[in-house]
Amino acid sequence: MQVSPLFEPERFFSHAPGHWVGVSSDDWDDWRWQQRNRVTTLAGLEARLNLSSAERVGVLLAGSKLALAVTPHYFNLIEPDNENCPIRRQVVPRIEEGYDSPFDMADPCGEDSSMPVPGLVHRYPDRVLFLVTDRCASYCRYCTRSRVVSGVGEQELHTDFEEAFRYLEKNTQIRDVLLSGGDALLLSDSRLEAILARLRSIRHIEFVRIGTRVPIFLPQRVTPELCAMLRKFHPLWMSVHVNHPRELTIEVRDALGRLADSGIPLGNQSVLLAGVNDDVTTMRKLVHKLLLCRVRPYYLYQCDLIRGSSHLRTSVAKGIEIIEGLRGFTSGYAIPQYVIDAPGGGGKVPVNPSYVVYHDSEKVVIRNFEGRIFEYPEPTTVPVPNHHAAELVAL
Ligand SMILES: *Cc1c(COP(=O)(O)O)cnc(C)c1O
Repeated sequence: MQVSPLFEPERFFSHAPGHWVGVSSDDWDDWRWQQRNRVTTLAGLEARLNLSSAERVGVLLAGSKLALAVTPHYFNLIEPDNENCPIRRQVVPRIEEGYDSPFDMADPCGEDSSMPVPGLVHRYPDRVLFLVTDRCASYCRYCTRSRVVSGVGEQELHTDFEEAFRYLEKNTQIRDVLLSGGDALLLSDSRLEAILARLRSIRHIEFVRIGTRVPIFLPQRVTPELCAMLRKFHPLWMSVHVNHPRELTIEVRDALGRLADSGIPLGNQSVLLAGVNDDVTTMRKLVHKLLLCRVRPYYLYQCDLIRGSSHLRTSVAKGIEIIEGLRGFTSGYAIPQYVIDAPGGGGKVPVNPSYVVYHDSEKVVIRNFEGRIFEYPEPTTVPVPNHHAAELVAL
């Protein structure tokens, strides 16, 4: 039996040009061609996929919530005849998006109430989130910022750049700036360079990072010119967003390699999604492939309570089970921190399996990954021998 490369998630494949037979390799490798040729309409989906009626209705609903857009590179990873394909569930809208559970929110992490300047979220004492664009290469259906992203939602992003830079200059406790959006890597090299240069001119800003899914959706954007520009602003870190091992194609691996070769430490932020990556086997393949790409799994997010995402959410027990299935069984470097971004705006809270079975002032009882029990004594006051004390008194 011929096994399609789509079904061997542990290996790296190129799926180009896939549906776009006949495209020149110059066009295919050009990120602006990829952007211009994104699949953005029902007809575009129908021409290439066997759509279900749940998806057809989903596309119609999406028009006024979060736009449909998928780059050709990423589109080729979709199984044409399987509506439950883990790639497809991330980017093709479904009818369930029209259902808001009683807990769903437009701004689940309460960002709008923590913006001292439009486009700048200041929640933690020493770091800020800077929203530099409202556009992405493709749109994730569970996007936590869908209220402002893609240009069709209920709000618009109006980042005040000059005000934001002045706020950063004034607030000397801010030592870490995270560029996000939208996706900062969709800006032109010169626009991004101007933002980075301005940030680097502020003495107290030590650490700059970019949160981006462009290397996954649009690996062609990671040009040698972009890398040469970015490396002027070290220490510059990057968090990418990979949810399923199939997303790590040859093109993505090479793009991540170019970033790593430019000295950019790479982390990954995954979102735990029902029917995408909510099992230990898929997660283990994902984290191992990430290490092969020199990307350190950073966070595993419980899916935010964003409107219309309940069909993609899992139980918290499932997240804990996945972390338990990794810890001890594989490299510590491969294990992300599982977090819930507290609804309403409390920030990221770590959620861990409990390895402490019992704890009092004398001892802690712990279990290891195999379930074996161990005891560690707490330090006690060291008794001073009597003759020693006598000598001290004599002195
Ligand atoms: C996630 C986030 C950060 C960065 O948090 P780290 O735990 O340092 O990665 C900063 N500000 C906001 C508002 C965030 O949501």
